[in-house]
Amino acid sequence: MEAFSNEVPRRTWGDWPSRVVENTRKILNLFERHDVKGTFFFLGWVANRFPSLVREVQAQGHELACHSYWHRRVCSLPPSEFREDVRISKDAIEQAAGVPVYGYRAPSWSINKDSLWALDILAEEGFRYDSSIYPIRHDLYGFPDAPRFAYVYQCRNGRELTEIPPPTVRIAGFNFPAAGGGYFRIFPFLYTEWVFQTFEQHYRKPVVTYFHPWEVDPEQPRIPAGLKSSFRHYTNLGLVEKRLGVLLQKHLFQPIATALEAGDLCPSAVKRKAVSMEHRSFPVAPAVFPAEQTEGSKG
Ligand SMILES: [Zn+2]
Repeated sequence: MEAFSNEVPRRTWGDWPSRVVENTRKILNLFERHDVKGTFFFLGWVANRFPSLVREVQAQGHELACHSYWHRRVCSLPPSEFREDVRISKDAIEQAAGVPVYGYRAPSWSINKDSLWALDILAEEGFRYDSSIYPIRHDLYGFPDAPRFAYVYQCRNGRELTEIPPPTVRIAGFNFPAAGGGYFRIFPFLYTEWVFQTFEQHYRKPVVTYFHPWEVDPEQPRIPAGLKSSFRHYTNLGLVEKRLGVLLQKHLFQPIATALEAGDLCPSAVKRKAVSMEHRSFPVAPAVFPAEQTEGSKG
């Protein structure tokens, strides 16, 4: 919802009728119809307000992960405030569900070249993976020189974190975004299908596709905003559910944590994780992995 951060200040969030529960249930039903499990990146704010939604998602076998508390851009925060945000949001989700949270995705892909310190903090706060660095050029985010596929990141504090980039395709020496969020919704569906095929046949890697609950809600109230923001937010909302249904039908998906443990996403992360797993403070959930954001990693 970054497009409307100026129009809808945080302190007024509670005054708006919330559609997140209904929209998340729509996604849960869709996933159930296709027998698909995904990773649900919750806002701490949503977890505090709707803890039973967190439990519902967990009970259906999906992975729970963290998408910050207030949806503020990481690169706009001082490190101490980021740490506080991460702590309270991780805690809100874990308290609601009773299972540990290992994954983080920054609001609006806001970890970039100048905010890599955030990865050190995530590792210190008990996260095992991050999925926030988009290796593209974009007016609001991106780190074009970052690796395109999952890798183990060596933090400056000596810790390690697996970084899981969203999908890109490489054309004429440039990285192009693909198969998630606005790119999934606004670009022709043929492009998405071609991207999946390219990953399958050429890259031989899973596609880490993603979308938000509001993207399956064509009836949502229209908030007056600039042309660019409105275009990015409202285009093709009515097509997302149908397109998702096609993808879910055609491909196999699994939660990020599951793909990570199986070595499907990043083989070199598997051995290292065997050690860090011993320090779980919660009972191990069956197959741990939106409410603010949904994730599926095609396996
Ligand atoms: Zn978001």
